[in-house]
Amino acid sequence: MADTLLNGLNEEQIQAVTATEGYIRVIAGAGSGKTRALTHRFTYLVNELGIAASNILCVTFTNKAANEMKKRIRYMIGDNDTGFICTFHGFCVQVLKEEIHVLNYPKNFLIIDTEDVTAILHTIFEDMGLNSRNYTFSTITDMIAVRKEKEPYLAYILETNNDVLKEKFLTAESKEDAIFYRYLYEQKKCYALDFDDLINYVLYIFENHEEIKLKWQKKLEYVMVDEFQDVSPKQYMLSKLLSGYHHNLFIVGDPDQTIYSWRGANVEFILNFDKAFPTAKTIIMNKNYRSTPNIIQASNSLIEKNKRRIEKSLVPIKQADIPVIYNHMKTTQLEAEWIAAQIKKIQEGGISLKNIAILYRSHFVSRSFEEVFIKENIKYTIYSGIEFYKRKEIKDVLCYLRMILYSDDISFNRIVNIPKRNIGEKRMTFLKEYAGNHSCSLYQALQDNLEDNLFKKTNGKDFTALIEKYKQLYEEKKISEVLSDILNDSGYEALLRTDGEQERLDNLAELKQSIFDYENSAGEECTLADYLEKISLFTNLDQKENSDSVQMMTIHTAKGLEFPYVFVCGLNEGIFPSKHIDTSDKMEEERRLAYVAFTRAENTLFLSDAEGVNYDGSYRYPSRFIFNIEKTYINYMVELESRLASDARMYIQLNEQKMEQNSRCLAINDLVEHHVFGKGKILDINHDTSSYVIKFENMETTRNISFKIMLE
Ligand code: ATP
Ligand code: MG
Repeated sequence: MADTLLNGLNEEQIQAVTATEGYIRVIAGAGSGKTRALTHRFTYLVNELGIAASNILCVTFTNKAANEMKKRIRYMIGDNDTGFICTFHGFCVQVLKEEIHVLNYPKNFLIIDTEDVTAILHTIFEDMGLNSRNYTFSTITDMIAVRKEKEPYLAYILETNNDVLKEKFLTAESKEDAIFYRYLYEQKKCYALDFDDLINYVLYIFENHEEIKLKWQKKLEYVMVDEFQDVSPKQYMLSKLLSGYHHNLFIVGDPDQTIYSWRGANVEFILNFDKAFPTAKTIIMNKNYRSTPNIIQASNSLIEKNKRRIEKSLVPIKQADIPVIYNHMKTTQLEAEWIAAQIKKIQEGGISLKNIAILYRSHFVSRSFEEVFIKENIKYTIYSGIEFYKRKEIKDVLCYLRMILYSDDISFNRIVNIPKRNIGEKRMTFLKEYAGNHSCSLYQALQDNLEDNLFKKTNGKDFTALIEKYKQLYEEKKISEVLSDILNDSGYEALLRTDGEQERLDNLAELKQSIFDYENSAGEECTLADYLEKISLFTNLDQKENSDSVQMMTIHTAKGLEFPYVFVCGLNEGIFPSKHIDTSDKMEEERRLAYVAFTRAENTLFLSDAEGVNYDGSYRYPSRFIFNIEKTYINYMVELESRLASDARMYIQLNEQKMEQNSRCLAINDLVEHHVFGKGKILDINHDTSSYVIKFENMETTRNISFKIMLE
């Protein structure tokens, strides 16, 4: 048995699979079979050692990866019980379902996605009289995430009663404080957890309830984590903590593929794993099974240009002399047309479209491609845009379902007046005030005031009657039935019909189908709460695969995936590398992103760029990542005009010097001494003009001082 299981593995992989005890680190390049080793290790533990799958935790980066791994493992172990194969988020939800009651939260707590967060912020902005000129939702969301990472906010929300929470934002000193505390208050009111909260709540419970921590530590005999180069400090803490009893932690990763530093990932955790766990064993793998030799050589050649890295080189196993192709075009339109033509050629060779991927740095790049593909009749799927579960009609309907279970303010706000029930702004303001004064939900506020004159002429009563009716009967029915009935009873479906919204109706049909599929696959135990929890964890990395179409996505989304044919387009200065990169460290991360992109290709890699001007006026030269690759490894379809090539090189050189300077620069609040102006303090840094804004002690106003001047 072990023979067949180990047959398709090389020596290092076999080592990784069979070294089951202790702290093990696998460091290996792209496509070297890390994920495969992980999957086989799980199976080995279950089939060969007799470990129960429910005692193994296997963490992957996306739900999609988790689902694929689950499928494979189910097949290999011949059992549907595969324990915990999930993302960190998914795992935390499992823990919280069992344990969150110790915080006096309901077992069916509400998980809110980015769309819900924006809805909450919307209400807050309205109440505070702010608009998007003051702050954008995304800056506020980032601010909240950063504060949640750094501040002990959980102790604060959990140990403070609602009145005090309210007082806090009403008397806050700054607007940011007011928004932050108000957001926490709104969350607490409906027991809502956003994505960042999930892991924080788990850590909080573990820290404060030794017996619960021990229970999970004992349960998880083996912990394994894929893509460890991108774990955040909290994820690292959780991995370490969970393996703190049995001391079996298996991690795999590739430091050259760290691409989430901007979101708090820290490559040091994989690099210093042996220092954190002195007994750790390290396995290095350097054979690449994924890609043809030129792809590997070009990728090696690129990543070698990073200065801060541990040297390692990938050796191709596949043998085939297929060149990496690079083309430079005059316009984006021509670039798209060239790609379309290549796709047609590949298709003529009998290859189906789903084997082809188009990868880009940011979404905006995809637009010009779409237009050409539509014209050329090439089917494509974009993994992003508005995700299915965030489309308006889908979200509306899910909020109806959420009303049944949670009656939370976020859902109430969204659907109380869809279809129109004559509950407009004035009445909503009244409900908000009432809810505020009585510390109750908006739904409760409406119920309390149905007989009030203000609500006489509304259909508020129908709404509460509808929700109450389903609260009574939803447990008896299938989710798909509840959905169909409530769409009908609420008048929502009729509304779409009268408005002729065919596409939205189709989407609702798709939703019904997906619920139906879910019920059939989940068996007996699929409650409404389970269903809502499952879809709340969906992110844009997890969309379902479409039939036969070209796969278009950002490189971040393509992490861990592979495709026979890969096009990396928009390889221009200002696009990729992005114009927001302003330090050498960030440029190294950008280069790693290019490395991730290139190494997704199994058979052929196509690189392309088009001339043009970025919106800040800078010229779109061919990307430095093209120049970074030894010319022997790429096949240039056209030679770059010598003028263009030399201008590009000059631009890149100057830009690199500037970034070096930026990287060396001092920080805000640093105290400095200038040879003429004397002592001062840095108040701000302007990377665009490479200067500091300094307030000198002897001067009334600030001065902009160039990085070039020596400051001590
Ligand atoms: P990434 O760094 O991109 O996540 P990875 O190291 O996880 O890559 P895998 O996805 O596990 O690599 O493997 C890459 C490809 O090589 C897969 O198609 C896998 O099936 C294949 N492969 C891995 N190991 C072997 C092997 N020993 N023999 C044959 N094929 C293999
Ligand atoms: Mg992998």
